[in-house]
Amino acid sequence: MLYFERLTNQGEEDKAEQEAGARGGHGGRGGARGGPARSLHRHRGEEEGFVRVAGDGAHPPQRRLLGPHHARPPQQAPRRRRRRGRRLDHVLLPPRICAGGFGGNVGHDPHVLYTLSAVQVLCLFDRLDVLDVDKVADYVARLQNEDGSFSGDIWGEVDTRFSYIALCTLSLLHRLHKIDMQKAVDFVVSCKNLDGGFGAMPGGESHAGQIFCCVGALAIAGSLHHIDRDLLGWWLCERQCKDGGLNGRPEKLADVCYSWWVLSSLIMIDRVHWIDKEKLTKFILNCQDKENGGISDRPDNAVDIYHTYFGVAGLSLMEYPGVKPMDPAYALPLDVVNRVFLRK
Ligand SMILES: [Zn+2]
Repeated sequence: MLYFERLTNQGEEDKAEQEAGARGGHGGRGGARGGPARSLHRHRGEEEGFVRVAGDGAHPPQRRLLGPHHARPPQQAPRRRRRRGRRLDHVLLPPRICAGGFGGNVGHDPHVLYTLSAVQVLCLFDRLDVLDVDKVADYVARLQNEDGSFSGDIWGEVDTRFSYIALCTLSLLHRLHKIDMQKAVDFVVSCKNLDGGFGAMPGGESHAGQIFCCVGALAIAGSLHHIDRDLLGWWLCERQCKDGGLNGRPEKLADVCYSWWVLSSLIMIDRVHWIDKEKLTKFILNCQDKENGGISDRPDNAVDIYHTYFGVAGLSLMEYPGVKPMDPAYALPLDVVNRVFLRK
């Protein structure tokens, strides 16, 4: 997990838990990285919120989340936290906790990008309960501007990516009512171009990544009627290159990541059948490192985690056998999204 910082030496209470964990067979992990531990200790002293990823004897560490909700008094801590043998060795720590948002790493400034990633990761682990949901939602909602747009952080950069991120985050947290939705929709619609696509700002060039953000935001807002589906569908299906891959803009090379940005948009506007799925599937599979695993942006390039995710996600959108279905608006597995909303 990219956004989790490994943690050891968490103070006396956790030391006791670690010793118990050592007896359970996980005591040898960690211990060498004191920096994050000091950071956590400092924040723990402030009794502010944080999230940890924990491992125990039954699950690999990265598979489980554990930790007190910062607003929860110690006596009401979840029973499982007190379980013997529990060892905490990862932490997801909002570096400027008072702001309510998350940064990319310990000590980084909060930004909506990382805040959505943190919320998505917690959704995957089914542990949204460890968040102070209103605090996180207020952080995002405060970034809405008078014209309905969203800034990415306190420095004020505006981009339709941040509109999507804000709506997606607030929707997953069941807090969409904290923003002016009409204005948010109006701003996204104001970024629509004559070619049917969307840009980062009003008048900005159409780009497949921005189109995903705008279509996703409108889907979450229940406002897809603002889209000219045939016109946008035409622009998107024109992204398929001779090699079967999809590019992000005209005259660009195909790149595996656009398998997600383009396909998800086409699904949301019900035009995915305009793509040659067989050719695209072959393109993605040709980008695999067949010896060491992973997927690259295009054949024979070095693999990375980013394109591996989008390659798998693209295959999922094309119903590739053995891959779980993904939700095209939330970029999460469908069963995770259903769990989040059915439990509302
Ligand atoms: Zn790419």
